[in-house]
Amino acid sequence: MASFDAIVVGAGPAGSSAALHMAQNGMRVALLERGDSPGNKNMFGGAIYTEPMMEIVPDFLQEAPLERNVTRDSLWFLDNDSAVEVGFTGLRFGKPPYNKITVLRPRFDRWLADKAVQAGATLQTKAVVRDLLYEKRTLGRGRVKGVILDDGSAAEADLVILAEGVVASITKKAGLVKPTPANLLSLWIREVISLPKEKIEDRFLLEKNEGAVLAMIGYPTTQAIGLAGIFTNRDSISLTLGMSIDKIARNRVAIPELLTRLKEHPYVRRLIAGGKSEAYAAHMIPHGGKAAQPKFYDDGLMVAGDAAIMVSGRRGSDLAMLSGKAAAETAVHARAKQDFSADILKGYKRRLNHTFFMKNIQQAKDTVKYYDNHSDADYLLNTAVNELAYEFFRAGMVTDKEKVQRMARLVLDKQAPAKTVYDLFIGLQNWGVL
Ligand SMILES: Cc1cc2nc3c(=O)[nH]c(=O)nc-3n(C[C@H](O)[C@H](O)[C@H](O)COP(=O)(O)OP(=O)(O)OC[C@H]3O[C@@H](n4cnc5c(N)ncnc54)[C@H](O)[C@@H]3O)c2cc1C
Repeated sequence: MASFDAIVVGAGPAGSSAALHMAQNGMRVALLERGDSPGNKNMFGGAIYTEPMMEIVPDFLQEAPLERNVTRDSLWFLDNDSAVEVGFTGLRFGKPPYNKITVLRPRFDRWLADKAVQAGATLQTKAVVRDLLYEKRTLGRGRVKGVILDDGSAAEADLVILAEGVVASITKKAGLVKPTPANLLSLWIREVISLPKEKIEDRFLLEKNEGAVLAMIGYPTTQAIGLAGIFTNRDSISLTLGMSIDKIARNRVAIPELLTRLKEHPYVRRLIAGGKSEAYAAHMIPHGGKAAQPKFYDDGLMVAGDAAIMVSGRRGSDLAMLSGKAAAETAVHARAKQDFSADILKGYKRRLNHTFFMKNIQQAKDTVKYYDNHSDADYLLNTAVNELAYEFFRAGMVTDKEKVQRMARLVLDKQAPAKTVYDLFIGLQNWGVL
């Protein structure tokens, strides 16, 4: 393989955004992807967000393969035979510039990688990077000068950007981060179920091209900390369910079985009835906030996206793209100086530190720690909310005062009110509602 100014490992949102920005700025870039095509190995719910997306491709609304503009966003506190729905419908989000837009990753990732190719990057698929290539030194290893591929061949560059996703095996080999503990990784399953457009619009109360996103806690994960979601695409629904790996082990649950069980819940069954299962995939999401993040740079090396744990609540793809662009901006600066040393590349960390998402990620470690110590938080909240709703809507033969007293007792019997409020505050961050 020819030598390049930069090699990007992984053509997911982070890698393709980094490659696109560097190529647009005249750098010779190789984008290496292990899959048969970009996005082949990728999956998410999911939705992308217009404001950050404009930073990556300003004209994406006209060009990208998009599914539905999300106008309805809801959270269900789901129990065996009841659900309390907190929801919002905003028709303003159904008009340009929109807010969130559902996408299917194989199509979206391919389009974004093609944008990088159109800008001049060289995309090589079926290219599995096995390790980094280092300059030889008499003592220890020198700076990164490229990558070694699975077939033993090498590709050289002044700079490597690792955008390899959550498993981050090269980032770990490079010694930038320690192995991830099980409480900081969640395992997700996603099933795509095809349904006629009109059925989706009827069932989710949508107009043409409008979409809905629904998050569910409680029942989907047998009341343990975890989350399920439904995202409406043009003519399919993505159903997702996940929880942290240590909680899967502790609660002795199997995620595929939980998904089957969820599909049989009366409220979910109605939404997907008559649908045909089209695709099934599993993927992980990294957590842990700033404390779990790797060192972002070294001599000739930067890390972006999930590999650098750029995840906050439900948002990951946009933070991957923004961090990929920040790495690329640093690379363009380094090339102008002809200096790819850690001293120059630390500018990447400075750029990241000024972003809104690094400030959000900073807080995320508290959520993980809180749930490690209070694994019944969602259970207490979910059952309290559903019991309260039953009491509130029951047309019994009691005075209003008695009804309020009963409802207060229901909350107080569970736990101290301050703890309930705090569980809710932490939950809002974890469910990705904030
Ligand atoms: C169920 C689920 C739902 C989600 N929902 C949302 C959502 O609604 N909105 C949102 O913003 N985010 C969502 N996310 C998170 C989002 O998918 C990730 O944050 C995002 O994909 C990270 O992008 P990335 O480019 O860093 O990594 P990835 O998308 O994982 O891309 C990494 C790429 O690198 C390639 N690769 C890996 N190793 C190598 C190697 N050694 N050599 C060559 N290539 C390699 C992979 O094949 C892959 O193409 C969700 C995630 C899951 C699992």
